[in-house]
Amino acid sequence: MKVLKFGGTSVGSVKNMSNVKEIINDGGKKVVVLSAMSGTTNQLVAIAKDISNGESNNAIDKINSLHESYFKTIDELLNDSLLNSEVKNYVSSIFELLVECTAENFSETLENKILAQGELLSTFMFNSYLKQEGVSATLLPALDFMRIDAFKEPDSDYIETHFKSVLEQAEDSEIYITQGFICLDVDGEISNLQRGGSDYTATIIGAAIRAEEVQIWTDIDGMHNNDPRYVENTKAISNLSFEEAAELAYFGAKILHPQTVTPVRKDSIPVRLKNTMKPDAHGTLISSSTSENGIKAIAAKDNITAIKIKSARMLQAHGFLQKVFEIFATNETSIDMITTSEVAVSLTIDDDKNLDTILAELDKIASIEVDKNQSIVCLVGQSVVNHQETYKLFKILQDVKIRMISYGGSNNNISLLIDSKHKIATLQKLNDYLFELVTL
Ligand code: ASP
Ligand code: MG
Repeated sequence: MKVLKFGGTSVGSVKNMSNVKEIINDGGKKVVVLSAMSGTTNQLVAIAKDISNGESNNAIDKINSLHESYFKTIDELLNDSLLNSEVKNYVSSIFELLVECTAENFSETLENKILAQGELLSTFMFNSYLKQEGVSATLLPALDFMRIDAFKEPDSDYIETHFKSVLEQAEDSEIYITQGFICLDVDGEISNLQRGGSDYTATIIGAAIRAEEVQIWTDIDGMHNNDPRYVENTKAISNLSFEEAAELAYFGAKILHPQTVTPVRKDSIPVRLKNTMKPDAHGTLISSSTSENGIKAIAAKDNITAIKIKSARMLQAHGFLQKVFEIFATNETSIDMITTSEVAVSLTIDDDKNLDTILAELDKIASIEVDKNQSIVCLVGQSVVNHQETYKLFKILQDVKIRMISYGGSNNNISLLIDSKHKIATLQKLNDYLFELVTL
């Protein structure tokens, strides 16, 4: 069995939904994971924010206009009048629930419930559309099997047993549709796998059923060798190893949720990235069979905060780094890059929610400098640190002020920390040189 995940754009218009129908209706048995229609989760986030701020008029305006736009899509999608009104009733029941949310009953759980509605809407609509088109499919509610544990990690044993029993009890079908992103938490409340989490749902299910393959269908033909939003003439990478894909997903190649490959890596279940708008394009295959060495891709991750922690003596002072790390650990903040010298350590974080507390605690043991608006630019490729062309990277960056370099942490990644205002120029220069073979 395969698992196919379709992102927000793929279910974001009637035309694209009809492409999805063609792609999945090929006779093979499969689980189809859907995101919310594009833009919906962002709208739900904004609605939840208005509600929690007590700005109920703004929330209601947004709820009404989203409700209207769903009705428009339903009219375009479903000309079968019975299905049309069945779906409208379902959609209205969801929007009525949203209208009832208030600042007084607001909580994190309520916010998660609000965010979960996008995937519930898209799967219900799409399942009805398949019915209308005579394609038989069965809807499997993700909340019946998808759960995270106390550490917010997928509870793989629970998921495996529950998914199997849900599947056994469901009507036999070639196509099983389910919601991406949403899950239950350890207390059985509605939660989610973080923004972009539908990719993660797909590989978690893939691992649970030992799928033959997981396919992630988006609106771009695979992972590119540089960020197509900023750099011209980027190319799709046809093959990546699990390690390369994991580095790229984490370091900003926005196309995948950072944890996507984790569940399938140990069983080497291949992940194929495909384009719903160009189903015949090869896309990117992530598998254990890649071996070419060298620089495959450049990616950047923004909103990084760098912290320099200076102490009179650091490296010879027993336990200094331990104290530093403890402060980050107790504040539940993970560190991404780190460089050291005898008198200072510089490190980066991407989640600055607890920054103030962290700084107050660091201040007791050292002096601190903080730089916000930094970007990590990273070069990824099998054995990239050993590649014969890699040294040229240092020449090409003579014009860019680099705040930190991380080399040798893994064989597959070299990371540079720069001020975000130099990001586009840096990506462009690296692209011209490394992929277009401009000679220095
Ligand atoms: N709908 C969710 C989001 O926008 C999950 C996803 O699309 O992967 O983050
Ligand atoms: Mg996504």
